[in-house]
Amino acid sequence: MRHEGQQQVKIGVIGAGPAGLTAAYLLSGADVDVEVWEADPRYVGGISRTEVYKGFRFDIGGHRFFSKSKEVEDLWSQILPHDMLECERLSRIYYDGKFYSYPLDLAEVVGNLGKRQSLLTVASYFKAKLSTSSNPDNLEDWVTRKFGGRLYRMFFKSYTEKVWGMPCREISADWAAQRIKGLSLIKAARAALRPRRQTPRAGETGRSDVIKSLITSFRYPRHGPGMLWEAAAAAIQERGGRLHMGTRVQGLTRTSAGRWRVKLALADGSERFQEVDQLISSAPLGWLVRNLEPSLPAAALEAAAALRYRDFLTVALILKSTNSFPDNWLYIHEPKLRVGRIQNFSNWSPEMVPDPSMVCYGMEYFCSQTDQLWRSTDAELIRLATEELLSLGLAQEGEVVDGAVVRQPRAYPVYDDDYTDRRLIIRAALSEHCPGLHVVGRNGMHQYNNQDHSMMTAMLTARNILAGEQLYNVWQVNQDADYIESGAAGSAVASALDQVRASPSG
Ligand SMILES: Cc1cc2nc3c(=O)[nH]c(=O)nc-3n(C[C@H](O)[C@H](O)[C@H](O)COP(=O)(O)OP(=O)(O)OC[C@H]3O[C@@H](n4cnc5c(N)ncnc54)[C@H](O)[C@@H]3O)c2cc1C
Repeated sequence: MRHEGQQQVKIGVIGAGPAGLTAAYLLSGADVDVEVWEADPRYVGGISRTEVYKGFRFDIGGHRFFSKSKEVEDLWSQILPHDMLECERLSRIYYDGKFYSYPLDLAEVVGNLGKRQSLLTVASYFKAKLSTSSNPDNLEDWVTRKFGGRLYRMFFKSYTEKVWGMPCREISADWAAQRIKGLSLIKAARAALRPRRQTPRAGETGRSDVIKSLITSFRYPRHGPGMLWEAAAAAIQERGGRLHMGTRVQGLTRTSAGRWRVKLALADGSERFQEVDQLISSAPLGWLVRNLEPSLPAAALEAAAALRYRDFLTVALILKSTNSFPDNWLYIHEPKLRVGRIQNFSNWSPEMVPDPSMVCYGMEYFCSQTDQLWRSTDAELIRLATEELLSLGLAQEGEVVDGAVVRQPRAYPVYDDDYTDRRLIIRAALSEHCPGLHVVGRNGMHQYNNQDHSMMTAMLTARNILAGEQLYNVWQVNQDADYIESGAAGSAVASALDQVRASPSG
């Protein structure tokens, strides 16, 4: 790709996560000169990487590959044609000492709750449906009005408050609208009335008992999500793109010639500068705005400084056991326990563990870097995770033989009351003052994106760059993510890419 009468256009990409690598993959495939800088010295894939500890592989949260966009699904197949497994989802909710299948199984709910509690739950649901109150602005009101107070307290409150570290009343209703909009109790109930699946108990292998139509299925690379991103990185380099690991971008200066001068900190402690024609950034939006020269207007700097994140840590526990629970993951709604979710990685792919007589559980803790939990030593965290696993009855004394801790800062962009206004201010400032700078991805746009939407922002950005004009409004991606949970009830939704294409850019 060349501008008229000029040398080949050079594009710099900050970050080798799904968004950065997707942009680099597509641009290098179109013969564009691409350079990618990744701060991590070892792993590509960003939050979607796969960590390896003594041959055990684990994700930063289990990563499902599922998209309503055929283009994204096709791209995954193209990047990793032979190594994607088809997985049936099996996950349950642990609440008040009992396990509940998800999608909900009505007979099981009634069995667990008893008839009286079940009737009260149904009554609270219909009471909420009959309510005529105005649009809710916080998560508690949004969920209560949609599902009733009892279901809210059973299946939303405790887990959601663990994830966000704040009361549901302080979480914007936008989050619910984006993440659980399509979840309909009627659809779930209808699905539940179809032939029942036999929910296996801990210790049973169970997967062949499962009636497939009730399960959301997804794809998963046999060595975890990092496998796909390693393949993307290799393809980019085969196409002539350059990937620099252990290279942190420290600052960006717009030159008088309208190019971007990038300050790089290398793994050996040295610094380097490099100039590119256009930049794609998947680094956190707040960081980006603070590190631009010339500086953006004060309102944008203030907005950037106020963007908040939620952090996350995984304690990978390694057990000598063949008696593992059958689910891919469990949601732990029990408020007395700190753990929020437990992954069983060998149920995602048997190749995630090097020895079939061992299992690896990802004990997931949602926290903030200021919390005592985050600052605990690895040994303390492994001890806590082991105690919590034992208290749930998911392991026997002496079975946990080893563990590893991975801390993930800025895992979740926080949707507080003002985040939309802040994004608008930053977006306007970038558009006015930073031509040739494109923001993509999850933290890059401060948008709660999964891999597919993170990739879509990059796909559209690559198309805009190749076309030399703003064909697509990248900020429009993922204003509608109802497939995430409603897929369980079999909803079909049109491609999000088509929606974005139809809307005017801006
Ligand atoms: C617990 C959890 C579970 C999830 N589960 C799923 C799932 O099941 N399915 C799914 O599709 N998605 C899932 N996601 C979302 C998925 O992880 C993200 O959508 C995706 O990784 C975002 O890609 P990205 O490229 O935008 O950002 P990131 O993955 O954050 O990658 C950004 C990269 O940029 C690098 N970087 C940042 N700053 C700099 C700098 N200054 N210089 C150089 N490099 C820099 C980082 O090191 C990182 O590698 C999950 C996320 C979490 C937290």
